[in-house]
Amino acid sequence: MKYISTRGNHAPVESAFAIKTGMAPRGGLFVPETVPVIDPDGLRKLPYQEVAYRVLSPFLTDYTETELRESVAAAYGPDRFDSPDVAPLKYLDKTTVVQELWHGPTAAFKDLALQLMPRLLHLAAKKTGATREIVILVATSGDTGKAALEGFRDAPGVRIIVFYPQGGVSKIQELQMVTTGGSNTAAVAVRGNFDDCQTMVKQIFADPDYNRLLADKGFEFSSANSINWGRLVPQIAYYFFAYARMLDNHVILSEEPVNIVVPTGNFGNILAGYYASLMGLPVNRFVCASNVNNVLTDFIADGVYDRNRTFHRTSSPSMDILISSNLERFLFEVTGHNAMKIERWYEDLAKRGAYKVDETTRARIQALFSGGYATEEETFAAIRGTFDRYGYLIDTHTAVAVSVNDKYRAETGDKTVSLIGSTASPFKFNTAVYSAVSGDKTRTDEFGVLNKLSEFAKVPIHRAVDRLTEKPVLHDRVIGIPEARKTILDLLNIRY
Ligand SMILES: *Cc1c(COP(=O)(O)O)cnc(C)c1O
Repeated sequence: MKYISTRGNHAPVESAFAIKTGMAPRGGLFVPETVPVIDPDGLRKLPYQEVAYRVLSPFLTDYTETELRESVAAAYGPDRFDSPDVAPLKYLDKTTVVQELWHGPTAAFKDLALQLMPRLLHLAAKKTGATREIVILVATSGDTGKAALEGFRDAPGVRIIVFYPQGGVSKIQELQMVTTGGSNTAAVAVRGNFDDCQTMVKQIFADPDYNRLLADKGFEFSSANSINWGRLVPQIAYYFFAYARMLDNHVILSEEPVNIVVPTGNFGNILAGYYASLMGLPVNRFVCASNVNNVLTDFIADGVYDRNRTFHRTSSPSMDILISSNLERFLFEVTGHNAMKIERWYEDLAKRGAYKVDETTRARIQALFSGGYATEEETFAAIRGTFDRYGYLIDTHTAVAVSVNDKYRAETGDKTVSLIGSTASPFKFNTAVYSAVSGDKTRTDEFGVLNKLSEFAKVPIHRAVDRLTEKPVLHDRVIGIPEARKTILDLLNIRY
């Protein structure tokens, strides 16, 4: 399988090259040239690891079967995920199914990708004959950072540097990051918001002089953000796994389409679902759920992507995003691989912070996607409502999806089974969750509330956030955006 750039500015490459490089050097994201087809019926009784192998192998044809099987077994083993199903389903009612994507080591769905991706990257470096040490730069709105640090810690031949917005992540997220051990890890707070961090990292990747300087010193950059195909492809697997389990449990019939409801930020998770549908997974509609940073809701409604708007900090910080990078891949697919259009729109985005797609593209998007958003009040009401109705605790991000799904159903009368992605453990965003379910809004100490929430809901605290305050803080840098390049040199012990 070859990979091509969404902006038509790179010759086709093998998957190892795409994974090692992250994004196309002159801008653009790598996507598979064609999409393989898989029959979900054939996956019914299979364990998660086997489903993952079958989804990965047609995309990663330059990896051997042994490489993939060993990587998958290690990434999704019982020492990493505390559920034998890895991404188990919770059936709330006949048409509402939640997939818990937070059983990994950091309690967020990003573990599904980031436990596997470093293994793929390490193999990719070998395959492409890389001689330099790889430096992973990550911009994070919270969850990616810890999941990446955990996935890459002590990986051979790789350094990882994570940038997060100072004050823009929860205390738990910050402590998770700054207490990460390992000889090759760094977490750096940046004075700015997530989009500032992401733009900063993208500019560093695209800076030829700086890249040359690092190359001279024996380093090269790569990315673990969801712009890297190695992040996306593992995520396709859990959609197939969910569908196969629903079939097996007679929640749906063979070939019955489902709705896929995703709390969305950078558009990676929902894009993986879209690729699953291109591969033959029967999907009726994608429901793209946003918080009040609802740039995607507007885009799906009117075809105008406009990031020129107020940025809001919400209780679902991993979705506080105004530039959804992976939308570019989706638009490339939806326009039938029209790199010229993508190039033009993304030039507009860079210049004016906005672009407008043509009518045909807009119609194609609307034929498959519905967008919606939840206010903070609606998010809290969804946490409360889900707990009252089903005795089931959900986090703030999942609650955005539940709320938008409810509104979508009320507006359309659609009775299709909804598969809702639950992207974080409720313990990760516990103060919001606790105040929503208990009505007690006086508790703001994230760590004190862990026990309260656990007692109240009779659910054990997720191991990823238990006893965090007892761990030593190992990373304490705070920088302004202009200092990023110098900070990287410092961290790599490069003299300048
Ligand atoms: C990253 C994240 C999201 C957003 O996922 P995207 O793939 O960026 O759309 C939603 N919820 C949680 C908890 C996350 O960590």
